[in-house]
Amino acid sequence: MSNPIWFDPSLCLVNGKWCPGTSGQTLPLINPSDGVELCQIARGTAADVDAAVTAAKAALQGDWGRMTALDRGRILTRLGQLVLDRVDELAMLEAMDVGKPLTQARADAIALARYCEFYGGAADKIMGETIPYLDGYTVYTLREPHGVTGHIVPWNYPMQIIGRSVGAALAMGNAAVLKPAEEACLTALAFAHLAVEAGLPAGALNVVPGLGGEAGAALTAHPGVHHISFTGSVATGALVQQAAGRNVVPVTLELGGKSPQLVFDDADLDAALPFLVNAGIQNAGQTCSASSRILVHRSVYEEVKSRMAQAYGDLTVGPAADDQRLGPLISERQKQIVTGFLDQGADLPIAAQGHIIDTAPQTGAYVRPTLFADVPADHTLARDEIFGPVQVLIPFDTEEEAIAIANSTDFGLVASIWTRDGGRQMRLAKQLRSGQVFINNYGAGGGVELPFGGVGKSGHGREKGFEALYGFSQLKTVAAYHG
Ligand code: NAD
Repeated sequence: MSNPIWFDPSLCLVNGKWCPGTSGQTLPLINPSDGVELCQIARGTAADVDAAVTAAKAALQGDWGRMTALDRGRILTRLGQLVLDRVDELAMLEAMDVGKPLTQARADAIALARYCEFYGGAADKIMGETIPYLDGYTVYTLREPHGVTGHIVPWNYPMQIIGRSVGAALAMGNAAVLKPAEEACLTALAFAHLAVEAGLPAGALNVVPGLGGEAGAALTAHPGVHHISFTGSVATGALVQQAAGRNVVPVTLELGGKSPQLVFDDADLDAALPFLVNAGIQNAGQTCSASSRILVHRSVYEEVKSRMAQAYGDLTVGPAADDQRLGPLISERQKQIVTGFLDQGADLPIAAQGHIIDTAPQTGAYVRPTLFADVPADHTLARDEIFGPVQVLIPFDTEEEAIAIANSTDFGLVASIWTRDGGRQMRLAKQLRSGQVFINNYGAGGGVELPFGGVGKSGHGREKGFEALYGFSQLKTVAAYHG
């Protein structure tokens, strides 16, 4: 196969130009399917971030800042088409970089295109309002961009997260500085190439790859940044919020979860089953909205356990290019984290495990998907985010108990209820502490249109849908006295 990296991956995009990092240093990008180095990427530093922020500020004062919302939308729509034109190439890059099975990587590329289309179409549909006020006044509001926005993106869904955060920020007229994850940044760079091709003016989007503690920390601490969007771990999210606090700028934090599915005795189990399993093992469980807890009414517990176990028996794990149900984890480090959690479950019954295919390289970061049964609700495996293909089954007896268990972790990103009882659906939708609640489905196909974000340690702020455009803008009130 010819090299699918069709650009120089060792460069940063600053002010519309591709350039090496000022330090001249680079970092290796590893293919998690075999542990082999793919290429070198720039190790951006505070100096590169500073140049990117300066370029973004200049773009706001230049062509980009003067552009109409309609024209911004047209560029994003064009960008969406360029992404669609290169879906297979983008999917291959993501598969190599993240270890994502090709089918899932392709779905992510299509989602990226959809974000560009959605925010391209929405750019000129965000409006202020007029406010009835005292006699002699006319009062109205203007929705304005924050200015320079910083975007810190993790390695698990680079394309989708770039689409939902950078797409919305650009639609509102912000100028963006993107710091992709050091483990996976090929599609961020490819996206930036396509953005230039689509006609995005210089400086409207800048990309500085590098380490979190260097380029990432420099971006969050930079006094020229007016809003920060971060997706990643709770620990790093707290650091990002502290840094933003010192400059008094708003942050959107999306920090993962321990999302439950609640299966009641009247649930349609045939409908539920594929969601119960897939929501836990998609992207090898490295999904912020992964459903890692399955709470089941005791009367159907044994049936759900045995049917999920059967499904787990069919799960295969292999290199991304082989397109099995699961690929490897992102890195050897992530494998150590997940294996550590599996060790902590050594005393728990394992209902089933999937299989790593024989041809998977020994040097890849593979783990077997594992379903634990009869897990106490206060066990580490039932409370902490594992970020691997591990699910726990927890039995319950009453609706009240199910709600109490569902709400008992520090997180609250997504929850799902499987029941035919309409009253119960409505009660639980209100009582579950969660940013999204799904009834008789999980994730609703990942809708770009659906506001997304957490409560508690899952974070705050909302991305996706129109709501993201409010987050990436600020409201100005204009009160005119004319007598
Ligand atoms: P991380 O939160 O450290 O990294 C995410 C992003 O933040 C990366 O781009 C990284 O370079 C950047 N970053 C790291 N330190 C930074 C700092 N001090 N200032 C600014 N940016 C910084 O996550 P990780 O170390 O890659 O993964 C560890 C755990 O985080 C995983 O096991 C998982 O539980 C969780 N995680 C969650 C998500 C999610 O989607 N919610 C994504 C990735 C990882």
